[in-house]
Amino acid sequence: MISERYYSLNTYFKGLYGRKVRKICVDAGFTCPNRDGKLSKAGCLFCDEKGSGSDSISRQLPVWDQVGDYIRAKAKDNEYYLVYFQPFTNTYANIKILDSLYKSVFLDKRIIGISIGTRPDCLDSGKLQLIAEISDNKEVWLELGLQSSNDVTLRRINRGHSKKDFEAAVMASDKAGVKICAHIILGLPGENAEDYVRTADFISSLPVKGVKIHHLYIAKNTTIEEMYAKNEIILMSRDEYIQEAANFLERIRPDIVIHRLMGDCRKDRLVAPEWTLQKSDVARKINKELAGRHSWQGKKSKHIIVPRGTI
Ligand code: SF4
Repeated sequence: MISERYYSLNTYFKGLYGRKVRKICVDAGFTCPNRDGKLSKAGCLFCDEKGSGSDSISRQLPVWDQVGDYIRAKAKDNEYYLVYFQPFTNTYANIKILDSLYKSVFLDKRIIGISIGTRPDCLDSGKLQLIAEISDNKEVWLELGLQSSNDVTLRRINRGHSKKDFEAAVMASDKAGVKICAHIILGLPGENAEDYVRTADFISSLPVKGVKIHHLYIAKNTTIEEMYAKNEIILMSRDEYIQEAANFLERIRPDIVIHRLMGDCRKDRLVAPEWTLQKSDVARKINKELAGRHSWQGKKSKHIIVPRGTI
């Protein structure tokens, strides 16, 4: 058996809690400034009508019922759970609403924390203070979409924020004592291996504590699906992705927790590539690729030292 060549989320949780921690994905009924017209109505090229939240339970139910249903049906005594506010922008409301929403999910002692998916331009000091306060005695991650450190790409995919916005949000979160997990995508239109390396170096230069790596896939009912149908999008093959993900990991600081190694899309919503459905096989092959290179996460990182203010 090949040992793990990267710092996985499982390893992080096992080290901290001594057991498996599973995510319960909930849909809190938010929208997004990049979809409701504040910034744009088009959304990011890859965003579907579910706000890129493929795993979440129905938004018809309040979050505490979504969590309660999951706990009753699936929870085990030897596991812990983290509630993931996944689709759309989960800080896009006033502090009072966010306060009661985030705190409402701690209805079972096995729920040890929350993960909050959002955009860099939807945070302010009050929201960060609230999240930091919850972090004082719970496991809390703020999941921040970057996707690429190239501003040209960010404009091309209609993100509605810049690299600088991301950097400012990370610095403010770190100052407040909130852990950031950055989301990135390998294979965005117009990008190549150099862009991926630049994005890895950029993330490693910041006090980021986690990263979610996704491959570009095409989901139904997205702008990118229309572009793909017109042959305007070239997708990476599985083998290319394994190479690029391994290259990316080599440039990522070794203390950064790898929350995910590829994107996830339900079969009924997936257009391409088909290998999206082979998640554990691809993750295993990325690890094997690193082993074959006698390499590991951070081997080529210029940022071995954890940025200041992070310990
Ligand atoms: S920021 Fe997220 S929810 Fe908003 S348009 Fe982009 S992918 Fe969709």
